[in-house]
Amino acid sequence: MPARLLPGLERRLKAEVVGEARFDAFTRGRYATDASHYQVTPLGVVTPRTIEQAERAIAICRAEGVAVTPRGGGTSQAGQTVNHALVVDCSQYLNRIVALDAAARRCVVEPGIVLDELNRALKPSGLWFPVDISTASRATIGGMVGNNSCGARSLRYGNTRENVIAIDAVLADGTHAHFGPLDDAKTDVPRALMRDLFAIAAREAAEIERRFPKVQRRVGGYNLDAIVPGRNDINLAHLLVGSEGTLAFSTRIELKLSPLIGRRAVGACHFGSFHEAMAAVQHIVGLHPIAVELIDRTMLALARDIAMFKPTVDAFLRGDPEAILFVEFAEDDDENLRQLKRLSELIGDLGLSWDQSGAKWGGVVEVLDSKLQAGISEVRTAGLNIMMSMKGAGKPISFVEDCAVPLEHLADYTARLTEIFEKNGTRGTWYAHAAVGCLHVRPVLNLRLDKDVRAMRAIAEEAFAMVREYKGSHSGEHGDGIVRSEFHEKMFGTELVHAFEEVKDRFDPQGLYNPGKVVRAPKFDDRTNFRYGPDYHADEMTTALDWSAYPGSGNNGFQGAVEMCNNNGACRALKGGVMCPSYRVTLNERDVTRGRANSLRLAITGQLGPDAFTSDEMAATLKLCVSCKACRRECPTGVDMARMKIEVLRARTEKFGLSLHDRIVGYLPRYAPTVARLSWLLNLRDIVPGAAKLSEAIAGFSARRSLPKWRWDYFQESKSSWPGIAVRRTASLRSPMSGPSTSSSSQDVDARHKAGHDGREVVLFADTFNRYFERENIDAAVAVLTAAGYWVRFAIPTDGGWPLCCGRTFLSIGKVDEARQEAARTLAALAPYVQRGVPVIGLEPSCLFSFRDEIPSLLKSDTARQLAGNALLFEEFLAREAATGTLDLNFAPMKKRALLHGHCHQKSFDTMSSVEAALRLIPELEIETVESSCCGMAGAFGYRADTIEVSRAMGELSLLPAVRKAPDDALIVADGTSCRQQIHDGSGREAIHVARVLAIALPQP
Ligand SMILES: Cc1cc2nc3c(=O)[nH]c(=O)nc-3n(C[C@H](O)[C@H](O)[C@H](O)COP(=O)(O)OP(=O)(O)OC[C@H]3O[C@@H](n4cnc5c(N)ncnc54)[C@H](O)[C@@H]3O)c2cc1C
Ligand code: SF4
Ligand code: SF4
Repeated sequence: MPARLLPGLERRLKAEVVGEARFDAFTRGRYATDASHYQVTPLGVVTPRTIEQAERAIAICRAEGVAVTPRGGGTSQAGQTVNHALVVDCSQYLNRIVALDAAARRCVVEPGIVLDELNRALKPSGLWFPVDISTASRATIGGMVGNNSCGARSLRYGNTRENVIAIDAVLADGTHAHFGPLDDAKTDVPRALMRDLFAIAAREAAEIERRFPKVQRRVGGYNLDAIVPGRNDINLAHLLVGSEGTLAFSTRIELKLSPLIGRRAVGACHFGSFHEAMAAVQHIVGLHPIAVELIDRTMLALARDIAMFKPTVDAFLRGDPEAILFVEFAEDDDENLRQLKRLSELIGDLGLSWDQSGAKWGGVVEVLDSKLQAGISEVRTAGLNIMMSMKGAGKPISFVEDCAVPLEHLADYTARLTEIFEKNGTRGTWYAHAAVGCLHVRPVLNLRLDKDVRAMRAIAEEAFAMVREYKGSHSGEHGDGIVRSEFHEKMFGTELVHAFEEVKDRFDPQGLYNPGKVVRAPKFDDRTNFRYGPDYHADEMTTALDWSAYPGSGNNGFQGAVEMCNNNGACRALKGGVMCPSYRVTLNERDVTRGRANSLRLAITGQLGPDAFTSDEMAATLKLCVSCKACRRECPTGVDMARMKIEVLRARTEKFGLSLHDRIVGYLPRYAPTVARLSWLLNLRDIVPGAAKLSEAIAGFSARRSLPKWRWDYFQESKSSWPGIAVRRTASLRSPMSGPSTSSSSQDVDARHKAGHDGREVVLFADTFNRYFERENIDAAVAVLTAAGYWVRFAIPTDGGWPLCCGRTFLSIGKVDEARQEAARTLAALAPYVQRGVPVIGLEPSCLFSFRDEIPSLLKSDTARQLAGNALLFEEFLAREAATGTLDLNFAPMKKRALLHGHCHQKSFDTMSSVEAALRLIPELEIETVESSCCGMAGAFGYRADTIEVSRAMGELSLLPAVRKAPDDALIVADGTSCRQQIHDGSGREAIHVARVLAIALPQP
């Protein structure tokens, strides 16, 4: 990464209040990439709080002779947002809806608003912005306009261009202009500029007619066709659409809105041959569907392999098709049915039938259920994600993924491109927008290898030549950027490329805005612009966890794991799922999985200077990562940041030691047995005036947060008196205690209790939090399990030391060796049960899931792997038993509402349906699951003085408002100890563990 440049620029930007201006290597590194394979480090990054601040920053750049690259979500696939420039990030603050005129179906927005957020706000008006791109959860309107983005339903709604009414923009010389319809009095573009643009378009009209592809998906070059003479719908804004930030900076965008789509009907057309599917598209489109989307055989297989999508695939899949076209109609109900009928007839006319009585196998599966329709959309996305999640060094690379050809050539085009891939030793998977001839396909290449870079050029040259032959478009959706601009000359011809340059020069003679995109671009295979450039290299480093599933030079695969982030930006979603909860509060690229993964990648490859991995900047980058593990599941490529954070914490702890706060948090399981005897004294912290403040000053525990209450009667196996508990009653915590299979006296007690339990044995893991602070959860679980006839066992430490612990608190402070030691003790105690296949049941999600996640990685033994397969949350166990008909327990009805909040790890391990199923065992209980992300507490995170604000704000995103709205007599159910604390502190309501709810509903004897 080059040294800091232009100190004058930095000084002025910081002095003249342009929002936040950052020039440090970490920030610049985070903005050096987008969803393409390029990496170009910007000079600095500004996140303006107002449009005026953005304008001021641009003015300073103009004065200092520095280029500006506007940026939204940074999800461009062609390198549009990377440049040696000052990046102006519109997404953090410039994201308001300025005006909405629902009657006229128009709105005006700032450029940084995310599409999904806009559509959520529009929903009550019955309207939406209908350019439904796959990245709707993080793409901004400014970015969509910049790229002329296209949605799956562009057949009906057109591309972004057709849905933009006007754009307010700052020109390169600082002039404000209003680009809009020519006949609109508000349109206000400098007269000389307008005159010159019209002159260029008029001069080139014939060439435009000849060389611009006549396909709907043409987003390459500048939209000179929008202003050719003779059009009666000339709109100057359309020249800015698709200009990739190279002509002007959009400050306000006026959008055309559409009524929300009503009920839809989908026909899943099955084909026995890919070629037949491609050949059919041109005919299907004649039925006027709103979308025709393709999934090929490979993607179907991938989707079927994912447990959560298998039921969806099974629901629509018939036989063994080579390809499926999902044909969507959105008319009124009757017409939808008629259209489906016509579709079936058409498919029959094309010679397809299920019984192959026609020449070809295939047919239509009708999908009218809206849930299944939504599932199908998800499957399509998931298939792509799986493809992207290949763990090898070769990755699916986007460069010919965006070609669009006239439908009559689709079958030939796909066949020939497949041959080109094969010739170059690679392959591709096909998906996406068949209706408009724009099929995404990414050949798998390893761009670190010269040979693959050469293959990339060979494929591009041949593919684009073929597209030209078919009069198609090489740039059909994702834009030009660095990838496709080089090829404009071949596709549009020299004369039009010259005209594009004239347009650029007329708007921006000094090259202020995003130079090197659309015109005068570098070679697309110039490796100095690659993320994995010629000098890319990671030094050896030791890691604590097992990363062997990933490739990478040395580093046990850690490098490969970090490089899994392909910058697609899914972690920037602001609603739905859990990832990345703290980003939802700060909207800071630093606080999102992508920002963290990029920082790690740059650090381990020496691009952020020496010792970057253990630096304070790295600590700041990871500070708001709450280790919720949502990325592990929700990131399309499975970037597991919670695990990576452990490596950084370990390295920092080794280098700098521990703070008092970390010691108190991490060593809790070790000192708890001793200090619990002083529970009355410790609990004074939240009673005696000044004590909380003192704890904040000394140990960093926020005075504004009460701490969990220590129990004098904390849970001790040795003092338990339930039937079914097998322990040596004389054992004390510090005295040696025998493991369940090694002590003869313990065996004796076990034997006595076994009588009457017909062998249905379970081990309940008493975690540190429930043991010392909320033992009633353990009591409740025992009561329920015992009532159901299970023989409840507790594992006893074989070394006779402190009670067992999963090691999580040590992992949270980077003490991996201590965590491993705790895990080993627990495994030793559980081993006899695990080897007998006895289920190990836990109550605290974060503790129990370390049995499935970190412990096998720390211990790498067969028993650890067996434990991972045997460990279940309490509710998972009950739900499983109920589902298999082996749960012998009826609960009393409870005429109440239960508001359920899931712990992040429950969501990450996909076990929320089990909690719901367990609660459904109670007759008449009405269950409502809050659509919440992380509660904000995340273990110790919410207690820290320096993170409490973010913690509270996270709670306020959805959980706390939902709890406050719940009726007074509703049960609030949360399995996480810290979730219950956040609910208590933030709403004054008490939440309870699912085990207690079930215990309350136990039938009275
Ligand atoms: C997995 C994946 C799926 C995708 N699916 C689709 C799809 O279905 N359809 C589709 O069309 N695209 C798709 N894309 C591409 C991309 O998401 C879209 O182009 C998206 O609209 C970009 O939005 P953004 O906010 O991320 O913009 P960015 O990438 O940040 O910027 C895009 C361009 O707009 C310019 N820009 C941003 N703000 C301004 C401003 N204020 N003034 C002037 N110029 C500005 C930038 O300089 C840049 O040139 C996909 C990308 C990925 C990674
Ligand atoms: S972390 Fe995952 S979701 Fe986020 S940008 Fe990277 S790959 Fe995408
Ligand atoms: S663990 Fe959670 S907070 Fe951390 S990066 Fe992943 S999703 Fe974000």
